Amino acid sequence: MIHNKETPLHLRTAALSTQAIHADEHLGCSAEVAPCISVSTTFRLPEDVTTNNFPTETHVYSRESTPLRSRLETVLGAIHDNGHAVTYGAGLAATFALLLHLKPRRVALGVGYHGSKATLDLYMRKVATVEVISIDAPYKSGDLVWLENPVNPTGEVVDVRHYADRAHANGAFLLVDATLAPPPLQQPFRQGADFVLHSSAKYLGGHSDSIGGIIITRCCKDATELRVQRTLLGSTMGSLETWLLLRSLRTLEIRVLQQSRIATQLVAWLHTAVRGRPESGLPVGVIAKVYHASLQKLPPSMDVCEAFPHGFGAVFTLEFHSQAHAKRFPYLLRLSQAATSFGAVHTTMEWRHAIDLTQSPKTLRVSIGLEALSDLKQDWCRALNALKYGEDVVKHKL
Ligand SMILES: *Cc1c(COP(=O)(O)O)cnc(C)c1O
Repeated sequence: MIHNKETPLHLRTAALSTQAIHADEHLGCSAEVAPCISVSTTFRLPEDVTTNNFPTETHVYSRESTPLRSRLETVLGAIHDNGHAVTYGAGLAATFALLLHLKPRRVALGVGYHGSKATLDLYMRKVATVEVISIDAPYKSGDLVWLENPVNPTGEVVDVRHYADRAHANGAFLLVDATLAPPPLQQPFRQGADFVLHSSAKYLGGHSDSIGGIIITRCCKDATELRVQRTLLGSTMGSLETWLLLRSLRTLEIRVLQQSRIATQLVAWLHTAVRGRPESGLPVGVIAKVYHASLQKLPPSMDVCEAFPHGFGAVFTLEFHSQAHAKRFPYLLRLSQAATSFGAVHTTMEWRHAIDLTQSPKTLRVSIGLEALSDLKQDWCRALNALKYGEDVVKHKL
């Protein structure tokens, strides 16, 4: 089992963008500037190995560790306030691994992604009995408090510090699934989280080409135990995914901040049509409501500047007046794909009702990419007018 060599002090105290580029440099083994992909499943062992006495500084078998996975986990840990990161083959593999590790008797569950609930359900049916309680019910020692922030699919936020204080006053643990707002948008450890979870297929990967899951722990011991358990579960991230994800992290800050900025401006623009005072050309009476934290009435207790100092992310939900419009809209756009997932450089949107019946059939979840705001507005304006006045009419005019 490899133990990650300590990140040098000047990088532990560096800003996030610097850490994302340099935190793993000391783990490089040659003069290369960009790391090589690790594909070897097995590594040459030194002659002096005896039973159960593998050297701690070498890699043995890739189910346990690889040079590139160590580099990726070092960067992921560094950018999460110097926490300890463990990577998995998918976000839901990470979810399952954390349940096995903590073995909670009770889970206090907030609103969120239906897949995480399905994984918890599988764990409850096949592994151990768990009592699911409301996020606002009283907590007991050993409970796992499970928050998603921001919430999938609305992009609205919750007050993590409030739940952290309640959890810690009662001996419970707080997990924050931060998939919808990675650093630099939020740093859940600063809000009191004990564990942070990500689906790295979303913003961290950011290009819709690498699936994976991450758990970041405050405490080194938890990360070490999770790695030992991962070796037995075999739920490791593939080598290409590992390489792609590390490459993507180098540009994480600039991507995420720009996506969040564009989305927030687009949300404000769409909201003018909901309020009946549309900016030029935007039709009234098509979109009924826009959900995003930038429009949300936030809990009065919440210190927003501390929790989300740079914006709330690029995911929001549109509610249409008619179901037919919600289903048709993605196919009228030229600069957006009708596809699941979010957080990538290209704008995507999804009619969530198709996979999650609890979601209204009049809604679409939107994720804004890195296209120019002016081009997106023009595209959306044309498509919304086509919904209101008929596709043929608008085709002739625009
Ligand atoms: C996508 C997602 C997951 C699951 O991650 P996978 O990598 O798809 O397994 C978990 N939580 C949230 C909030 C997600 O959006």
